[in-house]
Amino acid sequence: MAVWACRSRRKSGTACAVLLIAAILAAVPSAPAALRNIVIDPGHGGLDVGAKGKFGSHEKDVTLAVSLKLKTLIEKTMSCRVIMTRDKDFDVSLENRAAVANNNNAQLFISIHANGSVRNKAHGAETFFMNVNASDEETRKLAYLENTSGELDKRIPDEAQDEVKMILWDMAQTAYVRQSQRLAEMIQEEINAALKIENRGIKQAGFKVLQGVACPAVLVEIAFISNAEEERKLNDEYFQNHVAEALHRGLVRYLKLFPQK
Ligand SMILES: [Zn+2]
Repeated sequence: MAVWACRSRRKSGTACAVLLIAAILAAVPSAPAALRNIVIDPGHGGLDVGAKGKFGSHEKDVTLAVSLKLKTLIEKTMSCRVIMTRDKDFDVSLENRAAVANNNNAQLFISIHANGSVRNKAHGAETFFMNVNASDEETRKLAYLENTSGELDKRIPDEAQDEVKMILWDMAQTAYVRQSQRLAEMIQEEINAALKIENRGIKQAGFKVLQGVACPAVLVEIAFISNAEEERKLNDEYFQNHVAEALHRGLVRYLKLFPQK
């Protein structure tokens, strides 16, 4: 409505002012909606192959395959930016994985792994969140195994370490334990429902990769690569898609519950 038209009508001053303000506001470009940043961390990589299967599969390969599928799903369906700690087969230190999350102001961090056990029959998926006190002895040992990939740091030249300017806080994860636990619960529920596997539940342990992450963060062991049947599944694209879809549903549920960081 033109301003002159308003002058011609008595009692319409207020309405006119409202319309004028609305027109001015409409002309101001609106700020883009805040984009959530989700960091996907495919476990291991490069010289650090992770756990090995009987038939020669490496954890680093299956974690990358599932992570890339999850990235595609998120980008197709959610208004989120996905940042990968690695998108190819190369070394990334545990500290740098956390730094990728913090430097990108991540709202969620999910580290994807495949379990290994001397017990050949061990099977199923587990989701973990960070706590210095492990749920049980088996979990403490698993955290130790995952953390020892940090020894690789000594083989990575200093220049590579400096590529990412680290913003790390000791035990940054402490502030997010409750939210990380909820995220772990939802992801585990979705995996259980999708794969119809034994519920190994959510657990906690001192995972170094989660320790410095300043947002809700979980580590998922999607299956046991040391179990022949699960090793076969881990290399199966259908299974990989199925797992990625379950992880995706867990993330969607969580973000509905906690829309803010
Ligand atoms: Zn691992």
